[in-house]
Amino acid sequence: MVDIRGVHKSFGPHEVLRGIDLQVRAGEVTVVIGPSGSGKSTLLRAINHLEKLSRGSVSIDGALVGYRRRGNKLYELKEREILRRRTRIGFVFQNFNLFPHLTVLQNITEAPVSALRRPRTEAKERAEALLDRVGLADKADAYPRQLSGGQQQRVAIARALALDPQVLLFDEPTSALDPELVGEVLDVIKDVARAGTTMIVVTHEIGFAREIADTVVFMDDGVIVEQGPPGDVLDHPRQERTKAFLSKVL
Ligand code: ATP
Ligand code: MG
Repeated sequence: MVDIRGVHKSFGPHEVLRGIDLQVRAGEVTVVIGPSGSGKSTLLRAINHLEKLSRGSVSIDGALVGYRRRGNKLYELKEREILRRRTRIGFVFQNFNLFPHLTVLQNITEAPVSALRRPRTEAKERAEALLDRVGLADKADAYPRQLSGGQQQRVAIARALALDPQVLLFDEPTSALDPELVGEVLDVIKDVARAGTTMIVVTHEIGFAREIADTVVFMDDGVIVEQGPPGDVLDHPRQERTKAFLSKVL
């Protein structure tokens, strides 16, 4: 379970996250929606400690992310320890972020071999199985620049899965794609969700949110305004701010 408690994040005087409490149960999918600038990306980045917290804590399966507790104080972990723990938190970015100088297969095996010390042959077999799962078995030796955006994003998803993440975070995984490529990426994400991976997905695709979310969270101005099952939040929002947002995006 992902347990986000009282998370605040400021950049200088600007408080971007103003007290976020959110629990995501194992195997469940939480979709985060909200206007531009509401703090969605900052929240995802805070979850895997790409951003230090100003206050609050994030823990996954009972282990704090980025910090250790001594008494009732939190101390930031050393960089190496942060990186080691971060390998279990998958992150799929808007712009794919593949290593351009590595082949598709190398992109997927790099972290399992170097960070998790898995034997190369084992990592390669796993990568091939994952490529098959995302429909790209024939692209193992291609370089990212030779792939479409949708294909690159599917490789990025396979790469994240190769680390057996405790939770997989997606930040607008389809918003950089041409419209005709969105469907193939959403289908892969749906497949991963159905397989029981714990996920937090930031997206503007409301139809997709309705299909995969166990919980929809509406954020505005650094707070969670409303959360619940998609049938409640998307179809019968209670808060005026949620209604106003949905009337613009639906
Ligand atoms: P979008 O839908 O446009 O991606 P978002 O909900 O993901 O928006 P964030 O990227 O989390 O929003 O940004 C929230 C606020 O925090 C914005 O006002 C942004 O300018 C500010 N912000 C984010 N990162 C930084 C940073 N590194 N330094 C200063 N301000 C930042
Ligand atoms: Mg964002």
